Amino acid sequence: MQVEAPIYGRVALIGLGLIAGSMSLAMRRAGLASEIVGTARSADTRAVAAEIGLVDRVVDTAAEAVADADLVVLAVPVGAMGAVAAEIAPHLKPGATVTDVGSVKRAVIEAVGPHIPEGVHFIPAHPLAGTEHSGPRSGFASLFDNRWCLIVPVDGTDLAATEALRALWEGMGAHVDVMDADHHDLVLAVTSHTPHLIAYTMVGVADDLRRVTDSEVIKYSAAGFRDFTRIAASDPTMWRDVFLTNKDATLEILGRFTEELFALQRAIRTGDGDLLHDYFTRTRAIRRGIIEAGQDTAAPDFGRSVKTEAKAGSGA
Ligand code: NAP
Repeated sequence: MQVEAPIYGRVALIGLGLIAGSMSLAMRRAGLASEIVGTARSADTRAVAAEIGLVDRVVDTAAEAVADADLVVLAVPVGAMGAVAAEIAPHLKPGATVTDVGSVKRAVIEAVGPHIPEGVHFIPAHPLAGTEHSGPRSGFASLFDNRWCLIVPVDGTDLAATEALRALWEGMGAHVDVMDADHHDLVLAVTSHTPHLIAYTMVGVADDLRRVTDSEVIKYSAAGFRDFTRIAASDPTMWRDVFLTNKDATLEILGRFTEELFALQRAIRTGDGDLLHDYFTRTRAIRRGIIEAGQDTAAPDFGRSVKTEAKAGSGA
């Protein structure tokens, strides 16, 4: 990827997990920031980040990290965003931009917005990219390549600051769209949050089935179940927060899911093969659409190979 002129001077990453780490590596790859400073809650994470050189400088506190930063990225679980915003607020540089990468947008806007001082731009965003891995060693520079990042402006958002953030995400390899917060939360409930809940449930069900021994579940796990287990291995804190903060949209989609499930259950019981066949034909077309949009591969078994499996997306 071509190295571009830096878009920001100092960038502060609050949280040093999968998303922040990948941002740091992607920013470096394209030369998008003059300096990247990072911090995390635990001394262990900060030590690992320093050891592997994940950012240019690791500091002990969020207040220290944001000093003189032109861009501050909140990359902590959604439920922690408000407390972090309160901590950094007095230390933000006038004219700086604060953004976040949280998987839910309305709750983050409500938690963070009130802490943002006059003269600082708050521009929420959400990269639709991820894996089931977390922590400071899990990031990689190409995570956002050809993925979407949704920018969710709040009232009165500064245009120039928004354009700079857009340029950053594009420089990190992403396509950018702008979306309203409530719509974002509904779309993500359909495309990510409810599917994750279903995966967690399915793996939980298999775990409960004492008639199927653990070893059989693991030994004979075919693609369907195996893909569920990968998604259900995602970070428990992050996903707890997603469901607690995107409650309404998730419950709405879960309600619809349950109705559809009952319809299919009934079709199986009554032997309604036409209904099942029509339904599966419709869902197959959706899969084709995702491949045509370049968001997955048409290769068998999701293009898995030993090398690519660890990087298969399950972003929130
Ligand atoms: P991660 O790898 O688990 O990293 C989370 C980071 O947040 C860690 O550095 C952690 O510090 C810190 N943290 C955790 N709890 C905290 C608290 N209460 N106060 C302050 N810091 C805290 O997570 P991630 O996958 O990068 O996710 C970060 C954000 O991106 C989340 O809001 C998530 O919703 C969003 N997101 C995730 C994905 C995905 O697929 N993973 C995709 C898009 C967006 P310690 O290591 O010291 O505990």
